[in-house]
Amino acid sequence: MRDNLILWLVLLAFVAGSFSGCISRDSEFYSADDFQTVQKIDVHFHYETLDDRYLLLADSLNLKLVSPNVDAGRSISEQLDIAKELKARYPDKFAFFGTFGVDHYGGEDFKGRIITRIDTCMAAGASGIKIWKNIGMTLKDSVGSYVMADDPEFAPVFAYMEENSIRLLAHLGEPKNCWLPLEEMTLDNDRSYFRNNPQYHMYLHPEAPSYEDQIGARDNLLDRYPGIPFTGAHLGSQEWSIDEVAKTLDRFPAYDVEFSARIGHLQYQAITEPKKVRDFMIKYQDRIMYGTDVGVSARNSDYAATAESLVKRWKDHFIWLATDEAVIVDDLDGKSVKGLQLPKEVIDKIYFANAEKFFR
Ligand SMILES: [Zn+2]
Repeated sequence: MRDNLILWLVLLAFVAGSFSGCISRDSEFYSADDFQTVQKIDVHFHYETLDDRYLLLADSLNLKLVSPNVDAGRSISEQLDIAKELKARYPDKFAFFGTFGVDHYGGEDFKGRIITRIDTCMAAGASGIKIWKNIGMTLKDSVGSYVMADDPEFAPVFAYMEENSIRLLAHLGEPKNCWLPLEEMTLDNDRSYFRNNPQYHMYLHPEAPSYEDQIGARDNLLDRYPGIPFTGAHLGSQEWSIDEVAKTLDRFPAYDVEFSARIGHLQYQAITEPKKVRDFMIKYQDRIMYGTDVGVSARNSDYAATAESLVKRWKDHFIWLATDEAVIVDDLDGKSVKGLQLPKEVIDKIYFANAEKFFR
């Protein structure tokens, strides 16, 4: 009887030991199977339809969506109507950034009209205001000079945003690849985008502002309006070098970044310097946010195919960031890139905690 008891105790100790060993070994990192249950926010998802199936799909994956309106494509008032309705119906699953048009630059009451528009967006439930690369890349004044984001005409607008602590989501400039010939670009998606959009391929427009001019204008805004909560979309167009992103984060305390449409650039750097990319994500874990820059609109007529490709994209990203499994990256000619395996607490911040402010 006593022998039996000892045997049971030994067995119990063994089971408990391996169980706790298992917990401590596994609890530091997520696995691919955790994809669905981990709370996530895609901070850059262009939702341009009232078809709510994509929102419900995202919700089934514990994923909230933030849709930035943009001064391009469909009219900004239609974009706001869609965003406003989705926000009213799904306030805790959906958030959006409003935007303003700039075509009336140099016209009567330029700043007043923009400020009225900002108020309208904020009253509709916007988390902030997005500005786009048309400022700096296509907008021109009456004598044909390019208008940059730090142009004096915009000063009262940014002063207003600072006074009212309105968040600015800034997509200024483009990936540095934009200033290179197609064959020198590091990523396939940049190559195909600029092949199809030559008006934005700055290598073809040497008269237009340089890459450095774009970054300089952005830095001037950060310098002049330190009170604007400022999110650099697409790694603040410094995607080619995490050292450059880090310098900007170090210099401007109110600045944070999201890496939508630029994860391929992180993966590109991780091929040669995986530890450096991982260390960067860990060091700036409170100031980096996850996003994709994909979107849905009435053009997505095949729901099943769109849903499948969205889920695949979201899941591949999660596997690369959270686990040590390799993923195949189409934008890098199908190269396989080993996952960063960021610690759980870092994943929870990049995917969720840092972007929760958009839902308040
Ligand atoms: Zn976008």
